[in-house]
Amino acid sequence: MRTIGVLTSGGDAPGMNAAIRAVVRQAAALKIEVIGISRGYAGLIQGDFRRLNTGSVAGIIHRGGTILLTARSEEFRTEAGRATALDNLHREGIEGLVVIGGDGSFHGAVHLAKKGMPVIGIPGTIDNDIAGTDYTIGFDTAVNTAVEAISRIRDTATSHERIFIIEVMGRRSGQIALAAGIAGGAESILIPEYPVNYDRVVEKLEQGRHRGKLHSIIVVAEGVGSALEVSEEIARRTRLESRVTILGHIQRGGAPTAFDCMLASRLGARAVDLLADGASSRMVGIAANELVDRDLETVLREKKSIDPELYRLAEVLAL
Ligand code: ATP
Repeated sequence: MRTIGVLTSGGDAPGMNAAIRAVVRQAAALKIEVIGISRGYAGLIQGDFRRLNTGSVAGIIHRGGTILLTARSEEFRTEAGRATALDNLHREGIEGLVVIGGDGSFHGAVHLAKKGMPVIGIPGTIDNDIAGTDYTIGFDTAVNTAVEAISRIRDTATSHERIFIIEVMGRRSGQIALAAGIAGGAESILIPEYPVNYDRVVEKLEQGRHRGKLHSIIVVAEGVGSALEVSEEIARRTRLESRVTILGHIQRGGAPTAFDCMLASRLGARAVDLLADGASSRMVGIAANELVDRDLETVLREKKSIDPELYRLAEVLAL
């Protein structure tokens, strides 16, 4: 293999730059040229290509976002769009592609692989909602950002003896909410994987009040619904007022944590090794701190589950 392409697609995630850097430098070590494709599949269709060398990825490991930019492309969902993308890859002499993104991006990657283009997926999304890997790139940073925000809000919640409802990202997944809720010491954590039990939320608030504790932090995953609705439901049941904070996009930005930089570096290098070995339609991931690679279509069929032990732990520690 002489030339490979790399793109970032879907929502950005801290650590994507570290992954791009690892792809470029591992490829250089194997004497493989790398073409960077801007704006994900949109750039692939437009032929927005540039050569990347070891110098082009200097000084980016610690930077959030993605130097290749990312986008969503409706055109790539069509046969015609994908045919143009494939033509562009062939014209540029690209013999293998690394796709850094979430599950949507991997669906697109499978289409290309089926048309004969070797593709390796690197899971890059803060949501950690991809099966076949314990962690996705960006999750750890997003959790750390959320925990920092929760700690700040806890200070004011304690001083003013208030209930705060904090909505965190994660799309349909409760992974960020559960991790940030446990690490941030939340009293209740509401995630889409488990039915919302308002009786329990209210019971905990009342138990706390009984002990003289008037502040409380409730973390809500966006997949459960709006934090405002949760606040209204609590008010309806208890007449207690609560403040709502929606953390939003601050969770997507910022410098990646050391964990995410390490993960991205390892996954990026392994993706190149796999392409060089002739693999295709695989996703690289991490399981029990070992690098693994799994069939992309299988990974897309599976649903990442919440660790029930972790959910139980959250319940016990919040009492
Ligand atoms: P994140 O989870 O962080 O949002 P993602 O990769 O899931 O990332 P999506 O917006 O779902 O983000 O997908 C990114 C792009 O992948 C889409 O804009 C589209 O071009 C392509 N894509 C998604 N689903 C498909 C599909 N079923 N077939 C072909 N292409 C797809």
